[in-house]
Amino acid sequence: VELPIHEAVLGRAAEFGELPALVDGTDGTTLTYDQVDRFHRRLAAALAEAGVGKGDVLALHSPNTVAFPLAFYAATRAGATVTTVHPLATAEEFAKQLDDSAARWIVTVSPLLQTARRAAELAGGVEEIFVCDTAAGHRSLVDMLASAAPEPQVDIDPVEDVAVLPYSSGTTGVPKGVMLTHRQIATNLAQLRSAMSAGPGDRILAVLPFFHIYGLTALMNAPLRQGATVVVLPRFDLESFLAAIQNHRITGLYVAPPIVLALAKHPAVTRYDLSSLRYVVSAAAPLDADLAAACSGRLNLPPVGQAYGMTELSPGTHVVPLDAMRDAPAGTVGKLIAGTEMRIVSLDDPDKDLEAGEAGEILIRGPQIMKGYLGRPDATADMIDGDGWLHTGDVGRVDADGWLFVVDRVKELIKYKGFQVAPAELEALLLTHPGIADAAVIGVYNDDGNEVPHAYVVRQPTSPDLSEGEIAMYVAERVAPYKRVRRVTFIDAVPRAASGKILRRQLRERA
Ligand code: ATP
Ligand code: MG
Repeated sequence: VELPIHEAVLGRAAEFGELPALVDGTDGTTLTYDQVDRFHRRLAAALAEAGVGKGDVLALHSPNTVAFPLAFYAATRAGATVTTVHPLATAEEFAKQLDDSAARWIVTVSPLLQTARRAAELAGGVEEIFVCDTAAGHRSLVDMLASAAPEPQVDIDPVEDVAVLPYSSGTTGVPKGVMLTHRQIATNLAQLRSAMSAGPGDRILAVLPFFHIYGLTALMNAPLRQGATVVVLPRFDLESFLAAIQNHRITGLYVAPPIVLALAKHPAVTRYDLSSLRYVVSAAAPLDADLAAACSGRLNLPPVGQAYGMTELSPGTHVVPLDAMRDAPAGTVGKLIAGTEMRIVSLDDPDKDLEAGEAGEILIRGPQIMKGYLGRPDATADMIDGDGWLHTGDVGRVDADGWLFVVDRVKELIKYKGFQVAPAELEALLLTHPGIADAAVIGVYNDDGNEVPHAYVVRQPTSPDLSEGEIAMYVAERVAPYKRVRRVTFIDAVPRAASGKILRRQLRERA
């Protein structure tokens, strides 16, 4: 689809007119489609007048707010590339991203202004910091809405021009800038549309961060393209999340596994009326089938559907279509979307294709593969081979009907005496224990030089006495001997990225 991203997303805004597009889940502030259309155009004009132009990189540094999409589409309409920044990034982390991306402009919010200023000082090269709300000494997007400047006529090349420069989650290494062109994003939106058929009357809760590609796509671009209403929450807090579902009569949730876990296990869930919900979709990290079933059973919903993707894939390749949620096999991340190819190859020999049912590395080829990592041609070449196949680094298998199951990441597999143990499988098993609130597993080396599974466990407040021995025994009774958990450490919380992924390298550093 050769369209600039703002056209691909807001092309039908006039048609949706007075329907609510964005609602602040905290104070109820509402923007209609018509307003989103007019406001982002005026902001584009004001940004262009301020000097933002084609090829410039603009860093968008904000939690989810109703202004986030306005700033985002205004910047792309002015011809800029938007690099989205974690709102909790330290000034040093932010400065690295500014440096790496050569950003010239920042859009932030007043509570984060100090960090943004410090980051700009550290990085150099930033010409101006704008704020979405108001702050002394800075131009505010609210005031810029009054601009009478003419709409910029920028010649965007959807095939070459980079629309978004998100940074990967940094689960396995330093986050890398992923160059996604207008066409890649617009194409993937079209590929996913048939599966994610939200439209007018649907109310989607945007609780996952817009700055991450999953939130950006599933919670911002896709619903706004289709006339749904996006109810925006600035951060995940279980009580306000549940209250928002109840008060805004939310119909669809796109979440990550930790939220599925909370919905399945947390006592607070039963205190809210969640009857407006029609479906829950989970992506971004492995979700166990039993946990998914516990969640949908408790909420009286069709089975939780999954989707699979990565930043480098703009981001989606697999999804359980909404109309197939009841029939899809438990635990699947979905079927391959249109216009995309997949191979499952041997972990020992990437030239060897595997049969249905056999687990190997997932390779993807299609129009949504990133243009490359910014400034890292070697890393790009490591990931995308000469025939255009992207090596995902994920282990998966496909059943005879084409449903994909993700086992874990190649890098996370624990190799015990030649056997492979997937931490995700053990984590899922641990979560079935009623006394365990959360769990993470990593491989650590024993005195005898073998890599063995080490579990980090958060106990339920109701089970303060649950012991290491009981946990090791619980696992040992349920898995083959080589998968046994050999060590258990109790912790207060499992470290996770904003996208919901377990940060196993933090646990590894601790070990
Ligand atoms: P980095 O590449 O910087 O280490 P990251 O890979 O975590 O970070 P993302 O692009 O946010 O960054 O995440 C993509 C990864 O998320 C996939 O490679 C896969 O491991 C995981 N993932 C996504 N969806 C699913 C899913 N439904 N089930 C299991 N894993 C998933
Ligand atoms: Mg990755």
